Amino acid sequence: MHTVNTHKLISDLQQQGQFLTLSRRSVELVQKPISFTLDEHTQVSIISPGIISFTPKIKSVKAIVLSSGIHGNETAPIEICDQYVVDILTGKIRVAHRVLFIFGNLPAMDKATRFVDENLNRLFSHAHANESVDQNSYECARAKEIEKAVAQFYEAGHSDESRYHYDLHTAIRPSKNEKFAVYPFLHGEKHSKDQISFLLACGIDTFLLSGSPTTTFSYYSSRQFGAHAFTVELGKVEAFGQNDMSRFTQVNDTLKRLICGQPLNLKSFNHQDVLIYQVNQVINKHEDDFVLDFSDDLPNFSDFSKGTLLAHETGNEYRAEFDGEAVVFPNANVAIGQRAILTVIPTTLD
Ligand SMILES: [Zn+2]
Repeated sequence: MHTVNTHKLISDLQQQGQFLTLSRRSVELVQKPISFTLDEHTQVSIISPGIISFTPKIKSVKAIVLSSGIHGNETAPIEICDQYVVDILTGKIRVAHRVLFIFGNLPAMDKATRFVDENLNRLFSHAHANESVDQNSYECARAKEIEKAVAQFYEAGHSDESRYHYDLHTAIRPSKNEKFAVYPFLHGEKHSKDQISFLLACGIDTFLLSGSPTTTFSYYSSRQFGAHAFTVELGKVEAFGQNDMSRFTQVNDTLKRLICGQPLNLKSFNHQDVLIYQVNQVINKHEDDFVLDFSDDLPNFSDFSKGTLLAHETGNEYRAEFDGEAVVFPNANVAIGQRAILTVIPTTLD
């Protein structure tokens, strides 16, 4: 069935595992879907450049999506997931569940930038079809391709499979809470304490509960497929090869245990172990002269007292509405109409 060249590719992949390298350097080799099996126990499906799934022959009870590089310069999670893929292909580790790896923005990785034309993480749930989005941009096509791959992956499973998606990022700015996760808006569904315990085992102790639908990747998986989905921020952006991987030991080890079906030994949920915030204000930029009224390198989750001026622009002033209100993801350089600051206040889970 496979051509001579495909045989060579499959044999190279099993010896070196270099799927991500090929996706970035020899994209023509992985442009068309290819399937093969590893020692009769795992089905490998190359779906498109940067997108690959593994299906164990034993019945899977979990369908797990691990995405990285949705922002191209957020290298640590890309390096972690690349290593999993290498280890699976070369037989060093074996998956016990169905796993889909997505390396999001391949050209932005080469340019060491967040994106090429558009922020990919604002293009999901059909936001890529919005008038304001350049339909010819790389990210627009990529968002569609990723959505399709996720839909096919989840829908290919048994109805009793549970679905997970961890969209792994690193933040542009430092954070008072280095690792944190954004829990997409659940439309009234209950938040999962088991998932909070799982992420705590990954070293993530701060959670931000989103209060409205968004166009992020994790909201898409959560809303469309009922997946336990999170945007996970693992620390600060560094160049490829510059990450201190010892800072990622917990998340690296715990995700590997999850995909390989090894015991997770989770601590049961306890309010004392975690910081939980809910969104209070979404501050969008309306004018070109929008400026932040705090230092540009202020860490995420820095908090303010009630009434403090956070940002201003012609015709508007934005202030903290509560004591202890904290800012997350401030960025004055976004396009008009986009979110410039999110403010959050502490909350608890029911
Ligand atoms: Zn990111």
